[in-house]
Amino acid sequence: MRKKLIAGNWKMNTDRATAVELAKGVAAGAAEAGDADLVVCPPAVYLSVVAEALAGSPVALGAQNMCCQDNGAFTGEISHTMLTDLGVEYVILGHSERRTIFGETDKNVSDKTLKALAAGLAPIVCVGELLEEREAGKTAEVIRTQFEGSLAGVSETQITSVVIAYEPVWAIGTGKVATPEQAEEVHADLRRLLTERYTAEIAQGIRILYGGSMKPGNAAELLALPNVDGGLIGGASLKPADFLGIAKAGL
Ligand code: PGA
Repeated sequence: MRKKLIAGNWKMNTDRATAVELAKGVAAGAAEAGDADLVVCPPAVYLSVVAEALAGSPVALGAQNMCCQDNGAFTGEISHTMLTDLGVEYVILGHSERRTIFGETDKNVSDKTLKALAAGLAPIVCVGELLEEREAGKTAEVIRTQFEGSLAGVSETQITSVVIAYEPVWAIGTGKVATPEQAEEVHADLRRLLTERYTAEIAQGIRILYGGSMKPGNAAELLALPNVDGGLIGGASLKPADFLGIAKAGL
């Protein structure tokens, strides 16, 4: 069956010293946190020092974003080769903060996803509805549109390296977590979309993470859901005990 994946999205937090300390704390507790795959995604400028802090541990390194171009005149951007060069294995793409604050479209996300896959990175592709979309009964439609757009052109072989994260925007950083019913409904929909587009067997192998105010106290019931295969953790990833507590809750 699918191995759980717990990914920490540190966002624009930490400084050099606290990033190293946090990474070391996660690495030190990883062995007792069960057999989930653990990933930490520090700010890009600290990827290098965090890679050193994680050396020899089972914790993988992820980035929070990536450019869809290879190299050249793209001021301020970071390429896939820069990431792989530092030992990065995962990259979060299409996070709702990228979409809503920085105007990323599904097309941008699919361009980045295809580039990441070609470079051997595992993209964590985020989808999720706004509160007004949920209240208007449009959740399923929004998720389908984002799924189709953000994963456009991803082949049957490539999709097996993709991780999908369902993050209801109204639950991110708000303390308002989706109910198990709300989460499972969307996760099951995503699994159906994967089955329709690829095959049932492929769909069964793909990990779909939940993200949005996940904490040690609410993680167990979310991680026990049939179609929830892990978590994308923001706030609670900034303390090793909380992050590892979520991984333990999934045991
Ligand atoms: P949160 O963030 O856990 O702080 O709600 C999740 C995310 O944005 O990935």
